Amino acid sequence: MFPALATRVLRTTDKRCLWKFVWNFGVKGTLSVEKFKRRARRGDYFPPFLYLSIINSCNLRCQGCWVDVEEKDAIDLDMLHRTVGDAKRHGNSFFGILGGEPFMHPGLLDLLAAHPDCYFQLFTNGQFITEKVAGRLRELGNATPLVSIEGREITSDARRGKKDVFNKTMRGLANCLRARLLTGVATSVCQSNIEELLTEGWLRELIQFGVHYVWYHTYRPVGPKPNFQLALRPDQLVRVRKFIVEMRAKIPIAIVDAYYDHDGQALCPMATGISHHISPRGDIEPCPILQFAVENISDRRGVFETMRQSEFLRDFREASANATRGCVVLERPDLVKELVLKHGARDTTVRGAALAELEAMEPRYSQWLPGEEVPETHWMYRLAKRFWFSDFGAYRRADHDAASKAQELKSRLDSARLAAHNPARGEPVMKESV
Ligand code: SF4
Repeated sequence: MFPALATRVLRTTDKRCLWKFVWNFGVKGTLSVEKFKRRARRGDYFPPFLYLSIINSCNLRCQGCWVDVEEKDAIDLDMLHRTVGDAKRHGNSFFGILGGEPFMHPGLLDLLAAHPDCYFQLFTNGQFITEKVAGRLRELGNATPLVSIEGREITSDARRGKKDVFNKTMRGLANCLRARLLTGVATSVCQSNIEELLTEGWLRELIQFGVHYVWYHTYRPVGPKPNFQLALRPDQLVRVRKFIVEMRAKIPIAIVDAYYDHDGQALCPMATGISHHISPRGDIEPCPILQFAVENISDRRGVFETMRQSEFLRDFREASANATRGCVVLERPDLVKELVLKHGARDTTVRGAALAELEAMEPRYSQWLPGEEVPETHWMYRLAKRFWFSDFGAYRRADHDAASKAQELKSRLDSARLAAHNPARGEPVMKESV
């Protein structure tokens, strides 16, 4: 698989874009993870992967989106430069740029231009990537568009709350590939698109189209329109994992995930400390769907010291790692509420409903399904995950007696499911396979 993938990337990507990816992300990114590991061994935490939601505005209205997309909050360019600059001074070179829709931020391209020594992954719906914008991204060379596709025509419109979404997104994707950008496609797998997009056929279509990598997230039923019925059952979560591992060894397209180590052990990037999130108002959050904060990037200490000294982030990492290897938001909304109240954390949403949304959540299974681990089979992913995307000992430090935690999780979910089995909520009684 690897020679075919490497040949395809070399043949279809602008050389300068590829060099920036290899150097700014590959080499310097790896060094930033090594720096993170050394700090973590001393109990000192600053994430090598910072995710910045630079704006909350968006032209789409997706089911399960937690962002206040009707609003117009944005981190101004000076504050973005200050934050990226401070993180760079402490060894970071990679930044995930999210929204809302990041291309609606008037300063996005200026941000990229001002930091040629960094690498940016742009989480976008692709609809604002014109030929001109794609051409500018090629000139800059230090960013990869990760274009989200949530289904084919009909499913996309239903999932994203607008008309003709699929075609508009595919036009943006085509502009990226014509500009020879290193380009990816992201999907949050759910009940409405799992049969359409979790197939070898779809991946081969993307290869034909010229796409270099994909990222399969799993749908998180959160935010003002959680649509719980779209969430995957445990047997489907295992199916997604098995599919990814199989396709990684079989076809020439790279596949990213953020929830498993080389042995297929589940992990949470927030709990391991490898990534944290900054909201469109500059609030420092444990992760994008944990919309609570105590600190803000406007703090004059700068993002590095503010995060390093954050009791809120430290407590969230440790309490989550103690409770589960999975998603604490999905499995333990009660624990999240407890931590938020303990630290007097503020609701970072404009709608001011994050706590009410949390209280309305029923515990459910996430990526941690003890006994269902699927180890990586391809050497490239085993190597990369073993050294640069493991749990970095987060669960070793926690008294993580997996067996008792698994039993506790099962009984918690069984009681919640019985309580929650209310047809009015439109939630099917899921056949739990664990
Ligand atoms: S808490 Fe859940 S959504 Fe947040 S990083 Fe962890 S697994 Fe992902």
